[in-house]
Amino acid sequence: NRTVALVGRPNVGKSRLFNRLLGKRVAIVHDMPGVTRDLAMAVVDEDFLIMDTGGIGIKPEMTPAAIHEATEEQVELAIQAANLVLFVVEGPEGVTPVDLDVADMLRRSGKEVLTVVNKIDRQSGALNLAEFHRMGFRDVLAVSAEHGQGSRELFDAITEFLGPKPEAPEVDEDRRINICLCGRPNVGKSSLGNALIRAPRLIVSDIAGTTRDAIEHELDYTAKTGEEWKFRLIDTAGMKPNRKLGSSLDYFSNLRSSGAIERADVAFLILDALSGVAKHDKKIAGEIADAGVGLVVVVNKWDLALDSFRQSKVDGFTSEKEFRKAFIDAIREELFFLPNSPIIFTSALTGFQVDEILKSAVMVDTTLGMELPTAQVNKVLGDMLERQKPKIVGGRRFKVYYGLQVAQRPFKIRLFCNREEKLEDSYLRYLENGFHKNFRLDGCPVKFDLRGKS
Ligand code: GDP
Repeated sequence: NRTVALVGRPNVGKSRLFNRLLGKRVAIVHDMPGVTRDLAMAVVDEDFLIMDTGGIGIKPEMTPAAIHEATEEQVELAIQAANLVLFVVEGPEGVTPVDLDVADMLRRSGKEVLTVVNKIDRQSGALNLAEFHRMGFRDVLAVSAEHGQGSRELFDAITEFLGPKPEAPEVDEDRRINICLCGRPNVGKSSLGNALIRAPRLIVSDIAGTTRDAIEHELDYTAKTGEEWKFRLIDTAGMKPNRKLGSSLDYFSNLRSSGAIERADVAFLILDALSGVAKHDKKIAGEIADAGVGLVVVVNKWDLALDSFRQSKVDGFTSEKEFRKAFIDAIREELFFLPNSPIIFTSALTGFQVDEILKSAVMVDTTLGMELPTAQVNKVLGDMLERQKPKIVGGRRFKVYYGLQVAQRPFKIRLFCNREEKLEDSYLRYLENGFHKNFRLDGCPVKFDLRGKS
């Protein structure tokens, strides 16, 4: 998160300076839809984000009190969102009472601040930088946004403060995708684990005991495409052949206590095709979703379900496809909070589609590593917020200024707001669904983190 914000009282030339900073020396400028139209943002050199908060809350012919309030809101957003604040003041005017108020807020925040003294082209007498220095910030630079003086130095000061652009993290060739199989007793976790280990084109190179309760199998798989995939199956003692725990009821609590789910990149929720979604399945699904890891649903014992279907024991379906579709619909309805998870039908007994477990692990894991471009994040957010406004307890004015992906695995989207609010779960799900649809994040949870004045 490399964000630079321009703040200052109205008419000091913030938006002129914003445009100047996006001038010729900037190779690539992306126009960025903000969630609120009052906020101007752009990505500079595909590196840092620059934002002009100056439009927020500003209307023509405002009273000084209203201007003060709007300025406060702008400064608040800048403080929350930016690593570096450019505090814009005016050379010819000198330090004004509003400037002192802004300076006060900035100082209390402890943020890094550069004071930018603008309009030096209009300076008649000598420029007295000392009074600006007295406000006590990192540095003072004199510029003319209109004519360009000092803008090179300002740009250099910004890039110097931010430091070199971070390198894209190197791809770790040896990285393994951690997977774990979760589910109620008897749904077929051990059988699936064993079927996986016996899968053709798979080499189980290592079985290492880690903690008392967890075992790890390293699986090296050659896909049909020739790609080499590496996994680590996190397992509990209960899954080891011939060494089942006295009661497989312990299996899930074992997974929990050994932290297997948290360590997983992708967790598989195994369902029994004969019993459908049981109450306990919901609980397990909920725990996986809370852990924020990738989630794929596996409907196991599909051979038995198909047998029943073929023996016409299941009424009302004319084709196998329809039967399967009804299953999928029921799962999506019962487990409505799933992160749009892929659903795979398997049989540990016949080996049917067991490879699909590995394939979907790769797919979901790849998605989990995606970076969501800030411009698109804001486009999606803007559309979603417009279509359905969040309900806020107490009916207070609530605004989302913009959003930014701040983490992967799981995706975390920080929403910068005018105040810190708690959104209803149903609304958060609505937003999450929007992200799933627009970015195709099947199986990957999306978390939201609201920032604003508390
Ligand atoms: P776990 O408690 O989840 O580990 O379940 P197990 O792997 O021990 O399986 C429970 C029972 O279901 C065993 O009798 C398995 O043989 C049987 N089973 C597991 N998977 C399948 C499957 O895909 N098809 C059929 N027909 N039986 C299965």
